[in-house]
Amino acid sequence: MTSYVILGLATLHGVHAWGVLGHATVAYVAQNYLSAATASWAQGVLADTSTSYLANIASWADTYRSTTAGAWSAPLHFIDAEDNPPTSCSVNYARDCGATGCSVSAMANYTQRVGDGRLSAANIAEALRFLVHFVGDITQPLHDEAFEAGANGVAVTFMGFSDNLHSDWDTYMPEELIGGSSLADAKSWATTLISEINSGTYESAKASWIAGDDIGNVVTTATRWASDANALVCSVVMPKGAAALTAEKDLYPTYYDDVIGTIELQIAKGGYRLANWLNMIFETEVAAKREIRELVDESELDGRKFLPEPRALSKAKLARAAIGYGCNHTH
Ligand SMILES: [Zn+2]
Repeated sequence: MTSYVILGLATLHGVHAWGVLGHATVAYVAQNYLSAATASWAQGVLADTSTSYLANIASWADTYRSTTAGAWSAPLHFIDAEDNPPTSCSVNYARDCGATGCSVSAMANYTQRVGDGRLSAANIAEALRFLVHFVGDITQPLHDEAFEAGANGVAVTFMGFSDNLHSDWDTYMPEELIGGSSLADAKSWATTLISEINSGTYESAKASWIAGDDIGNVVTTATRWASDANALVCSVVMPKGAAALTAEKDLYPTYYDDVIGTIELQIAKGGYRLANWLNMIFETEVAAKREIRELVDESELDGRKFLPEPRALSKAKLARAAIGYGCNHTH
């Protein structure tokens, strides 16, 4: 009975990307590298001025996909690379994205939407929640792999439990490392990763994680992120093939010890990339559009000095002039 219940939970976890712990940790790492202006914009969009504003919504997309209303978004959490691990790994956007969309097309769509000032506040907040989640998903190697539905179909044993390789990568191996899945656990893991990024193991690699990232070329950028993680399927996740892992008596401790460093690397990378991505969106889209709006407002106000004679104006224009063009500021 007990093992039946545990298997059921494992199956549920298997459909998610990084579990709650992984996504919240990516978010906390990102929060650390946001500029003050980007952070205050994100807090405003999410209507959350707490110190966990990104971590609080990092797993929203996984909750949403499991609802009837959100079922359409399930394909956006991964890209099904039709490669052949461990012999050959590759991601090809045209081959792999699929007609219903994928993580890479979702990045393109929500990057555009989050900076589109014409959308409602609710739509912009939704776009930001999706972005925070999908940057995390893309760094999980098994979210960039079609083989056995991202290894959801690869049966393994981890710490005595029968589960699948995907859920071990998403949830059970990270939780074994950290010892829990609360926001406090995520924050503490993020603190460790941040110090490795600033002056430790990842210091020399971090520039390469974001090299060439370009919000004007989202598909190219996100495909590169997906390819980077997908390569790990061949080199780290299943270097001797999936059957060898199914045959293992238990993935703990040998396999776990082999891969846990890669899991940490991918979480750190996801957070660092997410921060850079949001900083770029803010600077290039949000702040730039704000400046243009202010310039337009100013020039229209200046224009009042050069208004034509009243008789040349329509009644409507006269009415606008009478209220001092105040309407410009409500656009
Ligand atoms: Zn997901």
